[in-house]
Amino acid sequence: MAEMREPIESGCPDPWQYMHPVMRKNFGMWKYHEHPRPGVLRHVAYSGDEVWTVKVGTQRILDVYTLRKLCDIGDQYADGFVHFTLRSNLEYIVKDADEVELLIKAVEDAGFIVGGTQNSVTMISHTQGWLHCDIPGTDASGVVKSMMDELIDEFKVATMPNRVHITTSCCQINCGGQGDIAINVQHTKPPKINHDLVANVCERPSVVARCPVAAIRPAMVNGKPSLEVDERKCICCGACFPPCPPMQINDAEHSKLAIWVGGNHSNARGKPTFQKLVAAGIPNNPPRWPEATAIVKRILKAYKEGARDWERVNEWVERIGWPRFFEEVELPFTKYHIDTLRGSRASFNASNYIRF
Ligand code: SF4
Ligand code: SF4
Repeated sequence: MAEMREPIESGCPDPWQYMHPVMRKNFGMWKYHEHPRPGVLRHVAYSGDEVWTVKVGTQRILDVYTLRKLCDIGDQYADGFVHFTLRSNLEYIVKDADEVELLIKAVEDAGFIVGGTQNSVTMISHTQGWLHCDIPGTDASGVVKSMMDELIDEFKVATMPNRVHITTSCCQINCGGQGDIAINVQHTKPPKINHDLVANVCERPSVVARCPVAAIRPAMVNGKPSLEVDERKCICCGACFPPCPPMQINDAEHSKLAIWVGGNHSNARGKPTFQKLVAAGIPNNPPRWPEATAIVKRILKAYKEGARDWERVNEWVERIGWPRFFEEVELPFTKYHIDTLRGSRASFNASNYIRF
């Protein structure tokens, strides 16, 4: 009988091969861990083994020379094992206490920073931006770089009430995540249609089906099959742009940024929460995005001063109430904070702001 061929796995590789041997040996058998200094964790296993994790901030988009430099440090001090976290931090695992300070010095001498653990502002997670996605309205990594340049001191210390997770997303519809603070693209005008291209490029039925509020209809324009948008219905989400690039929605003036607050995946002490819109219509202003950065800094300052120990941003806001939050962060409460999506009658009552 013919031998069955092994399936070829092209998904996530087996993580065991990349795990430090001390971590493999003690998998699931850790007794406790502690936080000796910002950027360093010490884990102690029931077997008596110990490991130190040193967390290093990176800009996520790394050239091969920088990666080699970081890997060389890993070869020298961390037995050749490196691990990237979801937030583009690099973790070195060290089994010898004496090596920890030497590793930190090597990392800092190479121009990197150590921190991002426990109650710090860890690295902002971001989506792909211009680098390798076809629909962004802004460059997520550029927003992150300019913001982290201003928040770098909060990465290196652990003086926030609890950990702060910030996220950025470069379109309104796809990837991204719940963050204590999230910076997302916000389109404010319906798409402009290039009718000459629609018939050649787009599958019209799939574009029509893509619209969440049924605002797109097939239409004949200048004798050619095209599409039309009912602009009274359109919520400017941008979902029609990926399947039909001639429905251009990105716009230097009308694609803005919005800031959302209070998202939390964790269910450690309370339920996970969705983030809520707190600032809309912020200029998408490269290369440094000063307006968005100023608001994020105001929110962090108010949270740092006002939250109790170990309160996450969502818990702090729930305790003081949303009206007071808007006062504390000096943001105006506008009509854009109210959920007015068509068909959202049921969700009105779930709004933080309006109760019927
Ligand atoms: S957030 Fe949108 S534009 Fe950005 S990488 Fe994801 S799908 Fe692409
Ligand atoms: S932007 Fe969104 S709401 Fe507007 S037409 Fe496109 S898919 Fe529909």
